[in-house]
Amino acid sequence: MSQETEHVQCLIIGSGPAGYTAAIYAARADLKPVLYTGMLAGGQLTQTTDVENFPGYPKGIMGPEMMEDFRAQAERFGTDIRFGYVSSVDFSSMPHKVLVDEVKTILADTVIISTGASAKWLGLESEMKYNGFGVSACAVCDGFFFKGQDVAIVGAGDTAAEEATYLAKLCRKVYMLVRRDEFRASKAMVTRVQHTHNIEIIYNTDTQEIVGNNTGVTGVRILNNKTQEEKVLDVTGFFVAIGHHPNTDIFKGWLDMDETGYIKTQPGTTHTNIEGVFCCGDAQDNVYRQAVTAAGTGCMAALDAERWLAAREAETETVV
Ligand code: NDP
Repeated sequence: MSQETEHVQCLIIGSGPAGYTAAIYAARADLKPVLYTGMLAGGQLTQTTDVENFPGYPKGIMGPEMMEDFRAQAERFGTDIRFGYVSSVDFSSMPHKVLVDEVKTILADTVIISTGASAKWLGLESEMKYNGFGVSACAVCDGFFFKGQDVAIVGAGDTAAEEATYLAKLCRKVYMLVRRDEFRASKAMVTRVQHTHNIEIIYNTDTQEIVGNNTGVTGVRILNNKTQEEKVLDVTGFFVAIGHHPNTDIFKGWLDMDETGYIKTQPGTTHTNIEGVFCCGDAQDNVYRQAVTAAGTGCMAALDAERWLAAREAETETVV
């Protein structure tokens, strides 16, 4: 039951690169943004190690440290950053109602959604143990660390096919582990994979364990689910590409989404189907999914929110 109510001009939900960038722009535009971090303050990047592809860090930076920098920059301009979890929303009237931690209602003139997406994992203990030490869910982010080495990738959708092809350009050998005897990916993508000389597709295969030592991953134990034959592939990198889940469940029924839950925005903008509600970052992007693209759309969301507020104010003045 809601006990407390507060009115804000700009509410930002989520604290990854998109949310913090939106906060920097909104705070500098004097929208006095309030940002709720969600349960994983800092977002997906707090679970990675080195980030080498974010412009402005020529020597690279650790993911958690980079998110601290984002946070500090957002705070420097006065963003009110709070730890809290948005549990439901009501976008039926203005201002929008957002319930935080089941107890507090925020009335927001504008809402910027930057709740991100989460990579799906196999659920193996060894996968978590070596996460960031040879196990990754992003080939574009981490493939470079395995240059000239042998790696494995699990998955058979478009993402896996695309990432396998990307890895094949950097790595000596890429084992592609497919659990059925066919791909889910589009024909064109499959053809590309099949024609890449250093990708070996292994069908009917389940991943049993990621093997490693104190330096990181050394192999992956796989099982042929037809013959029950088991073997260990010698690899130093293991990529999981079995899909992502956008963190958008609380907006279902309010916002237009695609069939997998990514929020739809009007092309070239961050406007959703609800006036005053904007979406940026991975919650609306199942294609690029990079920190830098998330940050870019975060900037767009703050500018869209600011312009939307200004237009509404001008309309109100005209009516008066
Ligand atoms: P998908 O859901 O399409 O595919 C997930 C894949 O992972 C499936 O092949 C699935 O196997 C496999 N998988 C799931 N769980 C496991 C498991 N436990 N062990 C082994 N394998 C598993 O996800 P994607 O991320 O590939 O794609 C998401 C959407 O984005 C799709 O619509 C796709 O077309 C789109 N996309 C488009 C791109 C493009 O056009 N350039 C690029 C990337 C994505 P199974 O098939 O057996 O279920």
